Amino acid sequence: MSSFEWPAPVTGFISARGANSSNPDPAEAICFVCHKGRILKQVDSDGRWQPADVSTAESFEHAQRHVMGEIGNSLCLAFETSDPGDAEFVDMRAMLDSFDRTHFNLVGRALQLCDWFRTHRFCGKCGQQTVEDPRDSSLSCETCRLNFYPRLSPSIIVLIHRDDEVLLARNHLFPEGLYSTLAGFVEPGESIEETLHREVREEVGVNVHNLDYRGSQPWPFPNSLMLGFHAEYESGDIVLQPDEIADAQWFSIDALPKIPARFAISRWLIDDYLAQRGRPV
Ligand SMILES: [Zn+2]
Repeated sequence: MSSFEWPAPVTGFISARGANSSNPDPAEAICFVCHKGRILKQVDSDGRWQPADVSTAESFEHAQRHVMGEIGNSLCLAFETSDPGDAEFVDMRAMLDSFDRTHFNLVGRALQLCDWFRTHRFCGKCGQQTVEDPRDSSLSCETCRLNFYPRLSPSIIVLIHRDDEVLLARNHLFPEGLYSTLAGFVEPGESIEETLHREVREEVGVNVHNLDYRGSQPWPFPNSLMLGFHAEYESGDIVLQPDEIADAQWFSIDALPKIPARFAISRWLIDDYLAQRGRPV
């Protein structure tokens, strides 16, 4: 099979600000219980991760409750508990393939919101305690009249190609033998395209052109939004940025090394290119 389709967007979620007409029953809310960056582990008989019901979420002591929004006609609530008791909380990355895409997005949202509220309890300007504004998930300082919003870090991720070859790299933290696409954070004053050119130059020393935006993925580790591109090689030899990149090579698309799992946008970019070149994915 040589076709590849980008995963369809998760639709149907309405943020707290937009949710004002359906008045869903709070007793039927879908709950995401977090503890210091981990999510309550509940799985069905097929091993698929499941959210908690209200009574389970409210059984945790010392839990802060935050309104996330609505999906379908259900209210979505995030809880941050300081006392996990005997319950098992897991790092989301340890069980990525047990989340469907809706739950992946919502759990990511819940973890990021809880982390945000936990770490921004005081105004960065005057030091006074901040107050939660449930309409838009912001925290405000009533003295300074400042609103603070959850942090989001846009990043580029790019597959560089040259006919039937792709440039893949590994950083020092990757599992043995794994290669992936290049990625990097947008810096102040940059467009997405400028970030892409800079990151590629910095990490592997080559120039690219013909940027082709392919799709995006929220990546809540801790708060990235990955914007995925294909880019055509233009010039230059590979020169590694030694602090960050352990190795980078051109690979034939018929002899790829170990690449990321199907869950990640890095893999989608690779599979998308293989399909464009008529290769099986
Ligand atoms: Zn203040």
